[in-house]
Amino acid sequence: MSEKTMVNGNKETRGFQSEVKQLLHLMIHSLYSNKEIFLRELISNASDAADKLRFKALSQPDLYGDDAELGVKLSFDKEAKTLTISDNGIGMTRDDVVEHLGTIAKSGTAEFFSKLSDEQTKDSQLIGQFGVGFYSAFIVADRVTVRTRAAGASAEDAVEWQSHGEGDYTVETIEKAARGTDIILHLRDEEQEFLNDYRLREIIGKYSDHIGIPVSIFTVETDEEGNPGEGKWEQINKAQALWTRNKSEITDEEYQEFYKHIAHDFTDPLQWSHNRVEGKQDYTSLLYVPSKAPWDLYNRDQKHGLKLYVQRVFIMDDADQFMPGYLRFMRGLIDSNDLPLNVSREILQDTKVTQSLRNALTKRALTMLERLGNNDKEKYQGFWNEFGQVLKEGPAEDFANREKVAKLLRFASTNGDSSEQSVALADYVERMKEGQDKIYYLTADSYQAAKNSPHLEQFRAKGLEVILMYDRIDEWLMSYLTEFDGKQLQSITKANLDLSQFDDEEVKEERKEKEQAFTSVIERLKAYYGDRVKEVRTTFKLSETPAVVVTDEFEMGTQMAKLLAAAGQDAPEVQYILEVNPEHGLVTMMADEADEAHFGRWAEWLLGQAMLAEKGSMADPNQFLKAINQLLTKV
Ligand code: ADP
Repeated sequence: MSEKTMVNGNKETRGFQSEVKQLLHLMIHSLYSNKEIFLRELISNASDAADKLRFKALSQPDLYGDDAELGVKLSFDKEAKTLTISDNGIGMTRDDVVEHLGTIAKSGTAEFFSKLSDEQTKDSQLIGQFGVGFYSAFIVADRVTVRTRAAGASAEDAVEWQSHGEGDYTVETIEKAARGTDIILHLRDEEQEFLNDYRLREIIGKYSDHIGIPVSIFTVETDEEGNPGEGKWEQINKAQALWTRNKSEITDEEYQEFYKHIAHDFTDPLQWSHNRVEGKQDYTSLLYVPSKAPWDLYNRDQKHGLKLYVQRVFIMDDADQFMPGYLRFMRGLIDSNDLPLNVSREILQDTKVTQSLRNALTKRALTMLERLGNNDKEKYQGFWNEFGQVLKEGPAEDFANREKVAKLLRFASTNGDSSEQSVALADYVERMKEGQDKIYYLTADSYQAAKNSPHLEQFRAKGLEVILMYDRIDEWLMSYLTEFDGKQLQSITKANLDLSQFDDEEVKEERKEKEQAFTSVIERLKAYYGDRVKEVRTTFKLSETPAVVVTDEFEMGTQMAKLLAAAGQDAPEVQYILEVNPEHGLVTMMADEADEAHFGRWAEWLLGQAMLAEKGSMADPNQFLKAINQLLTKV
């Protein structure tokens, strides 16, 4: 992965993976106004390192040696202009160092960077979404030295990593007396403010108070004559895992900072839910809804899931067994008292405890979202715009909760005139007309196509709202979502659509007669089309449009056929029914046409335009155009 390696004794110079160089460059430019967060990131890593050691020591208690009190220590040296963050956690081997501090392991990273425009690279949100981590040290330091010794390694087997944060770094085997990692920041001249006790306390108080292990600063007090004393370590945080504290004692800021620590996210979360459950199950959960989708939400290899703790001991990251796929954007942790400490991913897969935790946490997440939707429409809209597409996978994936998920869905509709998906099915139901017992919807390729669909004409005329769907996933979603609040969801492009309940008797009588009179035209059309269409029939649902095509209720529709084709699957031909509007001026002209050849051109025009409106394309555009040109020539 590295671009070049130069070996000199045991010291190697290696080039950063090119993505690291990009990240470093972007970070320094976009995060400068937020520079103090480097400390949060480094303390967060130190705390993770302690968690990892504790976990490993469950099976290898020797790893602690004589140093079992895990913590983070900060010290600074004004003369040397260095700030050091030390931990006695898991540490790193030489291979770990090269892997973790020289590359970015997330797949899709190169793609992410290559897509950023110049403007975007200045946007701290974007880079924050990516997760800044260790490299944020270079916002304030022009040289960073990492000295680390892995738990279990001997003192002679430690490693020093050093870099100026430009093209390359060095790694070298060194001696280090204590286990763990020291990060030594050689601060830039203009960053000397961090060599100050009060400033450091302030930052830690703001960002890292929730860290579960002690964070201490080495302070030297001067006596009355200004002579420095011996100095001592002073713990400056509460050092109690946030989720084990009482809800009433935790501030919003603490919840927010804790989120950034566990989610490696830069942005405040949108909402959270912290719960302690005792009884049949015994666990604490803290779930967060992020406010921004991670850049790799749709990447198959994207890591997701909750942090798992058992009896307060960290067990693993990204435990994805506790949330269904359609809630994969949820972040947070679960601390269980029912799982064994030696639980592995394999065991997790098939224990009953996991299943019941998953059910409980899924419900909790759905309830949290429902509340947000009811209490804060604007926030919820923000959530929907980021994650709605993922949530739409819900009804298919989680049959048991589909009503709950359905409540969370939002769509565009004919009630408004923007493509924003902000209409809940419950809103629709509330606006339903008297006598209306179905929820009408239309799926199309785009909002524009949906909005201008001829199928909507009669709905407009009757003042009936229609939900407009235009996302790829919608057709698939609707094959799982057939009912809401006891009302059937009805596609308006299906042949079984019947709105006659909204017509008065007189009109119905009149139409019967018109339909009778039109039978011969229908027969002529059928004879002309042969098996190109499944059926030809009269309709009165159109006003401005001469004809539309529809499909039978249980037949595959246009959008589903497109979906299958896009997925490279063989799909049977869609069987269309042509519905003709006998009241349309052009249709009347067609009906009067005695010349059979000319009637055939009318028939081409009629079917052609209906297909074009439905599919956005047609099988034989030339035949269609020829027919139209011949028709126009006669006029
Ligand atoms: P992230 O923490 O999001 O994985 P970072 O860039 O912050 O990304 O760190 C990369 C990796 O380097 C970490 O995942 C961890 O394996 C390792 N690392 C960083 N800091 C420490 C530390 N203090 N002790 C042990 N390992 C560390």
